[in-house]
Amino acid sequence: TSIVKNALYNPDQENIQVRGARVHNLKNVDVNLPRNALVVFTGISGSGKSSLAFGTLFAESQRRYLDSVSPYARRLIDQVDEPDVDSIEGLPPAVALQQQRGTPSVRSSVGSVTTISNGLRMLYSRAGEYPANQEMLYADAFSPNTPDGACPTCSGIGRVFEVTEALLVPDNNKTIRERAIAAWPPAWQGQNLSRILTTLGYDIDKPWHTLPKKTRDWILFTDDTPTVPVYPEYNIEQTREAIENGEKPNYMGTFTSAKNFILHSFATTQSPRTKKRVSQFMQISECPECHGKKLKKESLSVKFAGLDIGELSQLTLTEMAIKLEKTAHTKVADDTPHREKAIVAQRIASDILSRVEALTRLGLGYLSLERTTPTLSPGELQRLRLATQIRSQLFGVVYVLDEPSAGLHPADTQALLGALDELIASGNSMFVVEHDVSVIRHADWIVDVGPKAGTHGGEIVYSGPVEGLRDVAQSHTGRYLFDDTTSNAQSKSDTREPIAWLKLANIERNNIIGLDVAFPLGVMTSVTGVSGSGKSSLVSQALVELINEALGQKTVTETPIGEADLLEQELEAVTGGDIISGIEHIRRLININQKAIGRTPRSNLATYTGLFDDVRKLFAATKQAKASGYDAGRFSFNTTKGRCPNCEGLGFVSVELLFLPSVYAPCQVCHGQRYDKETLAVTYRDKNIAEVLDLTVEAAHDFFVDEAPIVRALDALLQVGLGYLRLGQPATELSGGEAQRIKLATELQRIQRGDTLYILDEPTTGLHPADVSMLMTQLNDLVDAGNTVIMVEHDMQVASNSDWIIDIGPGAGDAGGLIVAQGTPRDVAQSEDSRTAPFLLV
Ligand code: ADP
Ligand code: ADP
Ligand code: ZN
Ligand code: ZN
Repeated sequence: TSIVKNALYNPDQENIQVRGARVHNLKNVDVNLPRNALVVFTGISGSGKSSLAFGTLFAESQRRYLDSVSPYARRLIDQVDEPDVDSIEGLPPAVALQQQRGTPSVRSSVGSVTTISNGLRMLYSRAGEYPANQEMLYADAFSPNTPDGACPTCSGIGRVFEVTEALLVPDNNKTIRERAIAAWPPAWQGQNLSRILTTLGYDIDKPWHTLPKKTRDWILFTDDTPTVPVYPEYNIEQTREAIENGEKPNYMGTFTSAKNFILHSFATTQSPRTKKRVSQFMQISECPECHGKKLKKESLSVKFAGLDIGELSQLTLTEMAIKLEKTAHTKVADDTPHREKAIVAQRIASDILSRVEALTRLGLGYLSLERTTPTLSPGELQRLRLATQIRSQLFGVVYVLDEPSAGLHPADTQALLGALDELIASGNSMFVVEHDVSVIRHADWIVDVGPKAGTHGGEIVYSGPVEGLRDVAQSHTGRYLFDDTTSNAQSKSDTREPIAWLKLANIERNNIIGLDVAFPLGVMTSVTGVSGSGKSSLVSQALVELINEALGQKTVTETPIGEADLLEQELEAVTGGDIISGIEHIRRLININQKAIGRTPRSNLATYTGLFDDVRKLFAATKQAKASGYDAGRFSFNTTKGRCPNCEGLGFVSVELLFLPSVYAPCQVCHGQRYDKETLAVTYRDKNIAEVLDLTVEAAHDFFVDEAPIVRALDALLQVGLGYLRLGQPATELSGGEAQRIKLATELQRIQRGDTLYILDEPTTGLHPADVSMLMTQLNDLVDAGNTVIMVEHDMQVASNSDWIIDIGPGAGDAGGLIVAQGTPRDVAQSEDSRTAPFLLV
């Protein structure tokens, strides 16, 4: 019997009818979905859940919306993004709360994403305590992004940028010709500036420190920009004579001081690399005027509950709720002085409070309003958007979500379900792609996609109420949902013994303060704890950095660095602590995280795993290639030699849309083949390079059967269940789970030496329980070969099957950061204090 959880959901009511969906791997499927219900899309990774929920339903709704707004947008959309589906009837407007792959590039904060900052500005403007004689300020005056509110010293940035001689000229024994001014641009532009100095009469062949201070200051800091004739080959004397004789210069050049060059580049460049280069010549410090609060003095003199708006924004949401409660809950009596103002204060405060509570209920109470979004995990950001929607009072909308349980401890999942129910109760429908069994059990309706991945999936295995799945033998999901022996896999009784311990002392990072911890080596460890307790701070941040430092490896930042991140790195992200012992057992650290393997179609399965290098060598070794003089580089679509000149080897051209992420349309010249005609004429065993990139991993395994290095790489991909992917599948088309397993496979094909530490951040994200079993087999093999695995994990199947658990908590933010329990899963399950203990399957 199916229990209808949502009162508004009426199974007989008109529903959404999808006919003939063929997006990606979907096999011309028909499906009916209820409205006003929680619909959960299940199935193993790569089966086609997202292709149905996002690629078909959401895409179609978005297309219809754009259709209605502008003919210009319509042209673009028609050309690129129309989902391949015969018809969809009864589809309401959809809002996607998808997990962003990679960090969002726009500069925003918890306060701006949730719009709570707007509310606070109203509160301070209308109901703040003003000093005597100060006029009331408009809400804008409490925003650093308006001329009315910004601190004049730092223009509302909260930081000041300074350049000093020592930063601009790191080695003052060098001459200008020898590039003493390291901050100057490299290449021609740097040379140009020193030639201009010659014209201006400065000797560029004297060591920097021998130049008079006045000269040095002028060159580095002047705001003058003289334009002068330039004679590249001449020295000072010759230049002077040339000018006197009226000789025609090679060109006219304009001078810019090193300071202005640096500040200007930092403020205007779009390139993260330039930004990073330039930032090393600047000192970034807190603004002395506003102390990082970004607002002018008058605005900061207005208080609420004794705090200025900057101070209130620094509190955690939980603390902020306490400050708001009194005003929000106190009824304004008839004889209250300034009654009008008190009523306004009460209304605004209670509105903000309900928004804040929506966030704290979703387990985000440890965040502060000023926390920038690039420092949030994708799961946190999605829940932030979800909580914001609860207050938005939209109805009749379909929300499409991507694994909202990601990053959530099982103890927090109930609150998530509550939030979903609330949105349904206000008249909306929820379409959720999810693997978490407790979310699936809560569904009104399940759409199980599969049965397997890629070309072996793409069919609707089941569509109906949860209970009905019990009888569907074909469904992997049904097995885990109903069969207690698989889903409640017992933790193994024989845990491995550590070969040594890695001991760390005095760790400091975010909410972790002075923590001592020991990680067992040669075994598998799960670090657990509620969301925000400090797991990532400990493992993915502090541990990774300390070990990298000890091994002399650089901590690579994989995501492009924006201005916001730079500021964070510069000022906030500091790891403290020491490795006391055990490091001698570790030779290599491999950090396998959830980030996408690339955000452009230039990166793909074949290039990322390195197997494409060997493929290109095979093509270069063919008779045809040799006769034409083509080397391996000719067969790369990332160099100019052999690629299609129109799309520059992308196979697609990118179309920019206003207000939307850019989309890719197939190249008209090569029709997506990426190469020029001449290159495509070369064949290896009857296939050209584009046709090889079109092979699936499985097919390529047969095709390259005699090529040992290629087969080894393909074997590793088969082992992690990725046989259905095409070699040339662009990184942009890979799901998060696929990207994660490609990284893992790339590691597996290396020769195991047994001295590597693998660190993983929630490796089960995007993985169906059936895929999780496969992942565990791989990780166990790594450990059996003598390596160490340490992971942050919420999946209790994984934690229960580890050798060791370190449970962080007890709560989130300041209420966390401690070790609550540690030991074998059996030991931790006995702990009275651990919030993880009750969920362990032992
Ligand atoms: P799931 O959400 O179930 O993990 P997806 O819907 O993301 O699965 O993927 C289903 C299949 O479609 C996979 O084989 C995947 O590689 C492929 N796929 C996903 N996105 C694209 C795309 N943009 N173009 C082509 N194939 C894609
Ligand atoms: P978990 O991984 O257990 O969810 P985190 O380590 O991400 O927890 O967060 C622990 C605490 O540290 C939280 O209060 C969080 O807000 C804070 N925190 C995490 N990352 C950052 C950061 N980059 N900047 C500032 N605070 C952070
Ligand atoms: Zn300032
Ligand atoms: Zn092309």
